[in-house]
Amino acid sequence: MSNERPDCDYIGRFAPSPTGHLHLGSLLLAVASYLDAKAHQGNWLLRIEDLDPPREQAGAKEAIIETLAIHGFQHDGNIIYQSQRLHVYEQKLEQLLQQDLIFPCRCTRQQIRQNNGIHRGRCNRAKVDLHEPNWAWRLDMQRTASLQFDDIIQPPQPHPTVPPSDVILRRKDMYHAYQLAVVCDDIDQQITHVLRGMDLLDSTAWQIHLYHCLGAKPPIYGHVPVLLDTHNHKLSKQNGAVPIDNQRAAANLLWCLRLLGIHLSTDWYDADAKQILTKALKHWHRDKIPSGYSFSNTDLIA
Ligand code: GLU
Repeated sequence: MSNERPDCDYIGRFAPSPTGHLHLGSLLLAVASYLDAKAHQGNWLLRIEDLDPPREQAGAKEAIIETLAIHGFQHDGNIIYQSQRLHVYEQKLEQLLQQDLIFPCRCTRQQIRQNNGIHRGRCNRAKVDLHEPNWAWRLDMQRTASLQFDDIIQPPQPHPTVPPSDVILRRKDMYHAYQLAVVCDDIDQQITHVLRGMDLLDSTAWQIHLYHCLGAKPPIYGHVPVLLDTHNHKLSKQNGAVPIDNQRAAANLLWCLRLLGIHLSTDWYDADAKQILTKALKHWHRDKIPSGYSFSNTDLIA
């Protein structure tokens, strides 16, 4: 593990949730975030987003870390586990409550569904203690500054035409939500660049607002197209995507690199995983990554 360089002006990260083993779609994101950080002399941090124990798969954390090592990745600094940072998320909720930026909510799923899945506006005026169970806490999204952002892979993303739904930051069952934890961690780890899947594009407006609420400057975002399964659903750990075969590390990496726009000549095929990543750094141009929600079949077959 190399030493951390706090003066680094590029700090990227890969932040898998241990809901299952890595699949090719997640490896692709690891490759893109790693190469972009390293091609800019940056640091690349690894964070395990183990925030939701009921959805976690036993052994997945260890398997993810092992798969990344076998594929030649070296992260900078220590691995951060979200399960060890619950006190930080709670502290930020306190802060947001004092600033009157969050509110308690007991709306049912059915009520939200009847409103097209959108929660808009403060639904409860009672004063509720943060420790009281059975209340969800939502971020008030009805008065936001500009949520416009320039994506380094996709076209510029405009401010939403209607205010986004008031997103949950802590659930009724007291588990902290991804949207809260990811922003607290990205702030504390001084992340400057977030390269992640297109499925998270819609979360970015919530996250930018939360950055503003917490008085921090949002990072630069880049959303990489996702891989679809045969039913045109995003490959995902929960949907049982095939785990990566560690025996084929070099072939897996080459497959990702080709999709990310790197032209592979025959000499790439004799290299091992570490050599492939080193070689890829010299050929990395993020503007070769296609834009759009998902990779098309032609991208996959080409
Ligand atoms: N933990 C999220 C996932 O595995 C990624 C979070 C992020 O990159 O912002 O999909």
